[in-house]
Amino acid sequence: MSVFDARYSRQLVLKGFGPESQERLGAARVLIVGVGGLGSPASMYLAAAGVGHLTLVDQDVVDVTNLHRQLLYSTPDVGRSKIAVARERLEAINPTITVATHDGKITAENAAGLVAPHDLVIDATDNFPARYAINDACVRAGIPFVYGSVARFEGQVSVFATADGPCYRCLFPEPPPLGTVPTCAEEGVLGVVPGILGLYQATEAIKVLTGIGTPLIGRLLMLDLLEHQTQIIRVARRATCALCHSRSAESAAGASASAASLPQPESAPMSAPSADITATEVAARLAAGDAFMVIDVREPWEFDVASIANSTLIPLSTMPTASARLDKDAEYVVLCHHGMRSAMAANWLRGQGFTRVLNMVGGIDAWSLDVDPAVPQY
Ligand SMILES: [Zn+2]
Repeated sequence: MSVFDARYSRQLVLKGFGPESQERLGAARVLIVGVGGLGSPASMYLAAAGVGHLTLVDQDVVDVTNLHRQLLYSTPDVGRSKIAVARERLEAINPTITVATHDGKITAENAAGLVAPHDLVIDATDNFPARYAINDACVRAGIPFVYGSVARFEGQVSVFATADGPCYRCLFPEPPPLGTVPTCAEEGVLGVVPGILGLYQATEAIKVLTGIGTPLIGRLLMLDLLEHQTQIIRVARRATCALCHSRSAESAAGASASAASLPQPESAPMSAPSADITATEVAARLAAGDAFMVIDVREPWEFDVASIANSTLIPLSTMPTASARLDKDAEYVVLCHHGMRSAMAANWLRGQGFTRVLNMVGGIDAWSLDVDPAVPQY
């Protein structure tokens, strides 16, 4: 099938896209791990755009609770295998592409084999073991992956494991303890949120595959769709990332100067993300007069609505500049609205060499509930 297929005419006439980009998409092989809320829109639009080969990984059957957000599936599909239905639907959307399936989970054991024959991976999973398996296999194979995640009304997207960019472990070195991060089933998600984030992932995939635009490499886009707030935080390759460090050491054979200047992993404060503290514990330590600084990483308008006395406002997006003024050996408690942004800030600070950083779980919301009901919830 020619790239001049009429089906692509609207993108072929785009300045800066054209037949070369279409040929690159046609030759591309993309692995989509998870065909649920994120994987539905991502796979449908990548198929429609003409990505030549898609491999789908999933082990679930279609459940009625999927239908409000997983638009690959219709009501009569309930009970059928997701990958079987998805394959039919994607081949109907674009019969010129090929679609393969893998019925099962991605694991640390099989990830390398699944990832290897592809040019790019879409992380459309909803769990940490799968995400870390994808990250580690992609970094080792030198294959980029487009990360996406959603919770409630919020989402994040980034591109990891490119030749020069950071990996997911540069941001979060280790998975959080099981059960500490609520799932969509426990916490809920508005159907449009993964729809939008999955399309961001498809957009980033097209950009990486064709070389157009500036993909989100080294940048994490955070969207709050309820308030329509977006933030982009910079994610550098962390000098103490065991995975990236070994990769850069390998690729820097002969260029040992740059590798030698990196801090030794042993000397790095590889604090586990389990370095958490509850709102009640923070209150007790403040009451006891302990010397530590409480950093609130929310936006100024949120701080105006509700805050903890004597806390310091450093919005997440300003952390890279503001942190230069902070003492790396002092102790910090970081908080936000629900604990997601502060977990990210805490990990980032640890990656910068801060040795004593605690994340206040549940954020200011937990403070209102457990410590001071006079602090408004929002
Ligand atoms: Zn890394």
